[in-house]
Amino acid sequence: MNTFRNLAAVLVAALLAACGGTGFKTVKVEQFKEVIKDPSIMLVDVRTPAEFAQGHIDGAVNLDVWDSLFVENAVKAIPAGSKVAVYCKSGKRSADAAGKLEEMGFDVINLDGGFLAWNDFRHKRDYVIVVHGGAGNVASVEKDSLKAAQYYAALDSALAVGSKVLEAGGKGPEAVIAVINYFENNPLFNAGRGATISDAGTFELDACIMEGKDLSAGAVAGVTNIKNPINAAYAVKTKSEHVLFAGKGAETFAAEQGLELVDNIYFATPKTMHWVEELKQKSKKNGTVGCVILDTDGNLTAGTSTGGMFRKKWGRIGDAPIVGAGTYADNNSCAVSCTGHGEYYIRHAVAFNVGARYKYLGEPLEVAADYIINTELNSEAGNGGLVAVDKDGNIAMPFNSTGMYRGYLYKNEGTTGTVSKVGIGAGLK
Ligand code: ASP
Repeated sequence: MNTFRNLAAVLVAALLAACGGTGFKTVKVEQFKEVIKDPSIMLVDVRTPAEFAQGHIDGAVNLDVWDSLFVENAVKAIPAGSKVAVYCKSGKRSADAAGKLEEMGFDVINLDGGFLAWNDFRHKRDYVIVVHGGAGNVASVEKDSLKAAQYYAALDSALAVGSKVLEAGGKGPEAVIAVINYFENNPLFNAGRGATISDAGTFELDACIMEGKDLSAGAVAGVTNIKNPINAAYAVKTKSEHVLFAGKGAETFAAEQGLELVDNIYFATPKTMHWVEELKQKSKKNGTVGCVILDTDGNLTAGTSTGGMFRKKWGRIGDAPIVGAGTYADNNSCAVSCTGHGEYYIRHAVAFNVGARYKYLGEPLEVAADYIINTELNSEAGNGGLVAVDKDGNIAMPFNSTGMYRGYLYKNEGTTGTVSKVGIGAGLK
């Protein structure tokens, strides 16, 4: 009997070792704060040293879970019998590390999604601005240093425009409109002047703005003569009882509101005119511009403006002006603005679903946004990305294309300076 028991114990131990241990406790975001405040618990960050150097929880030691000397390093760094809590960027990696440490005899807690959770309550931010200037294949821009510099400068300028409005006491909608007007007036981007062409060689624009404090929204779709479609979207939100106006009706409404109207050709640039002449050529411009803001009152606003997809059929409307598809804001979760192949963004209700995962599943913003872009959307067909900010000022900017023109700027509570970064391809600077 005893032999049998011993055998079983050996088997269980072998199984546990093979599974990387299963006895450790896993805690989710809700209990996370309590664990990291407990001085008797040693915090172990199992990300790479490079990740650790970029920021970590105060007092944590770094033990790279991929280092082949992980166990030896752990013996040196952690006093025998210690209670430890491990965290990483993903739950899987911290569970691996927790299993190894448990086998070594430590009392282990696995902080599932711990680093992201910590990021979630790390800073109280006065305000946050996140922008995008479209996603897609950015290889040719990245290779051309002059062109890349133009985009970096434009992204910096867009962030500066928003920051100026907020610093002067302006609120989210005002700042979102100012940022999007900047993009709409800049021919580098597929919104307003510089918009891509429809199959008919004309310019048909979509835009939307939404406020998280009351879920109020306004949008225009398929408009051809409104210089700044985001202004018309805002007018729909504030001066009509409706949410979305399309085509001629939207244009009549904009005229009634005294908004600036232009001939359709105003939106053309030498580049787009070239396409009009040679509609059959391969080159294409998609894009879209967007801006999401957490303002100093803690309110969220999202705005998106676009010329749509290259060679779209007459009357085609993309995701940008559809509340919940390309644009969404809810003070209980986050503000989202999307860019990409609009048909997929509409089908997957992308902007809404990021907020839904955040709100109903309790996922950190970065996790929710990453899931929708990299798992839910088919990255071949639903190519693109999004920018988002949550009610606590956390930022996400995932994309599944080779790049996305993007950037953020925020100001932490109690500080005077701002922090900002912009990017085109993989990195940010
Ligand atoms: N989402 C836009 C549309 O489908 C285009 C884009 O962002 O590239 O209209």
